[in-house]
Amino acid sequence: MISIQKLHCDFPQFKDLVDAYIPPFVIIPLKNADGELCTSKVAENTRVSEGEIIAQNTKSSSAIHSTVPGIVTGYRTVSIPNGKKTNALIIRTDGSFSYLGRNLPVTDWRKYSAADIWSLMYDKGVISTFEKTRSMASMLKVFSEKRDISRDSILVVRLFDSDPTVRTAEFLSERKLDQIIEGAAIVARSIALHKIAFIVSGKSKEVTEKVKSYFCQSMSDEWFVYKAATDIYPSGGYRELKMLLNKNKCVFDEMIAIDAEAAFTTYEAVALNKPVLEKYVQFSGSPLVSERIFRVRVGTPIRKLVEECGGFKQSVYKIVTNGLIKGTAVSDLDTPVTADLKSVTFLPRKIIPFQKQVNCIRCGNCHRSCPKKIQVDKLFSYYYFHTETNQKIIDMASECTECGVCDTACPARLPLAQTISLLKGGIK
Ligand code: SF4
Ligand code: SF4
Repeated sequence: MISIQKLHCDFPQFKDLVDAYIPPFVIIPLKNADGELCTSKVAENTRVSEGEIIAQNTKSSSAIHSTVPGIVTGYRTVSIPNGKKTNALIIRTDGSFSYLGRNLPVTDWRKYSAADIWSLMYDKGVISTFEKTRSMASMLKVFSEKRDISRDSILVVRLFDSDPTVRTAEFLSERKLDQIIEGAAIVARSIALHKIAFIVSGKSKEVTEKVKSYFCQSMSDEWFVYKAATDIYPSGGYRELKMLLNKNKCVFDEMIAIDAEAAFTTYEAVALNKPVLEKYVQFSGSPLVSERIFRVRVGTPIRKLVEECGGFKQSVYKIVTNGLIKGTAVSDLDTPVTADLKSVTFLPRKIIPFQKQVNCIRCGNCHRSCPKKIQVDKLFSYYYFHTETNQKIIDMASECTECGVCDTACPARLPLAQTISLLKGGIK
């Protein structure tokens, strides 16, 4: 583990939420949460309503919605925030909104079965972004099917982002805590769990009070609130959260984890019957005139949000989505906001001085900073230069959690975590 100060990154702070303008058009990629390409149900020049399902492979896969009312003007291949390209639908905003500005009635979700809850999750496009993006309902179904009911299981809800350069989850948790708690209760019900742990990075008192007041009526549910040591990295991965629970003597056999956003969107989908139409996204980095956290329509091009930040005051060298540690570099400002986008960071040239890859300088930072104490430099030379390496060191590659710390610590900018991942996969 490494102190986050040693990561030499900016950790922006935000006070206010900014509601982004409704864009004149949205770009809706036709890939669902599980990465499957979906066939559009709507033809060009068709009118669509806000929240209408425009693509869904089967009833047991995540639906894709139009996030504005409007007219389908065509299809285009676009870059998406994970660095890939896909086919997308372009919808010009036009007409009246079905959800925006309305007070939606809260349904009594307690009368729903697990199947009802999962069906709503598929229908409303709820996704899980804990460690990787996937359909929330599919993830819960798999857990439920594999679960040994004689074993004691726990749902863990992480209220901060695992990448310390991203503040979106913390920001959302400060403002939507009641809904997140209720969303977690819905998730727990759908997989018949009665133990929930909320993991916070900051003020645990307010979270404890709210969780206590929510669950005070329930005799069967057990709840916990623990504070993670977010001044070190990694502190929010599955393994670290499990260790935190063990350290606090929380007794359980199996654990499933979700993030704050998954709990929040579950609440909106199941209790309010609302599809995932908006996202909370952090826009940061010194080239921007102002840094912001937006509530924004899914499908809005990044370019529009840069304009709302006042544009750039210096040239941008790199655009990174979803955090500086494990994020992806993108190059197209017309990349749309997607349901799994949490942050967009703009980097100027001067803060990435070692961008050019050089030879290993044998500083030992990678080995020292690796939470598993893997001899990363040796494995790198083994993989690329076939250097003689002890089998014990090679076998340690299988313990790599792909946390990315070694990449951040390496002054030579060698692609270390990526190399270990190739070694693990046996690809060469
Ligand atoms: S990515 Fe793997 S090798 Fe690199 S620090 Fe993390 S656990 Fe260690
Ligand atoms: S941190 Fe980078 S430069 Fe330093 S020993 Fe490891 S691989 Fe080599």
